Amino acid sequence: MATAEEVQRMLAAERVRVTEQLAHLGHDGARDTFDENFADIGQVTAERGEVDAIVAALLDALDDVDHALAKLDTGTFGSCEDCGTAIAEARIEAMPTARHCIQCASKKR
Ligand SMILES: [Zn+2]
Repeated sequence: MATAEEVQRMLAAERVRVTEQLAHLGHDGARDTFDENFADIGQVTAERGEVDAIVAALLDALDDVDHALAKLDTGTFGSCEDCGTAIAEARIEAMPTARHCIQCASKKR
């Protein structure tokens, strides 16, 4: 069983990794600095759209990390948010930000 400290360390590392990628894209990780209007500039739209998609995915990843950290705080970490079942250890280790057990996650796809 991974301890809370181990999970916290994994999440912290993931947070750093995602934040660095955002910084690399010129983004500070705050959702309100996301400039929706930028995409209106015609010539850069295609390229900008790609960057926006990556930034959006990274911001989602950041949300997932913060969400998992909040669950650690409240002691609900490791249980599925749909059915309440304990999420398999291997799944937590592979994806510490997982919100659902493998059964519920596969139902959503
Ligand atoms: Zn479930």
